[in-house]
Amino acid sequence: MDCKDCKKRIKDFLNDSLNSKANIEFAEHVKSCHECMEELSIEYLVNEGLKRLDSATSFDLESELNEKINKTYKRAKFYKNFTFICILSVVTVAFLLGLFLSTLFVF
Ligand SMILES: [Zn+2]
Repeated sequence: MDCKDCKKRIKDFLNDSLNSKANIEFAEHVKSCHECMEELSIEYLVNEGLKRLDSATSFDLESELNEKINKTYKRAKFYKNFTFICILSVVTVAFLLGLFLSTLFVF
């Protein structure tokens, strides 16, 4: 993912509306790109700041944002691996079933 794509997806990332693959690419990019991380921080600050204007509680937006990036990244990685394992299981079961059925017809 390049900076242009990344900046286009900031709003979607903050709204949790990216798919797993896009989330992984996005998180990897902002972790390694200072410019996009800064842009994301500003957007996050504006969004969250406005939401919490009424509540006078203090908040640490930088660590909250880092936590959000890490959580999203881990969840996306988990779903990606989970999907892979599911597909692998289905293929394995189909293969074993095929093997089983073929032995039935041999004898
Ligand atoms: Zn960038």
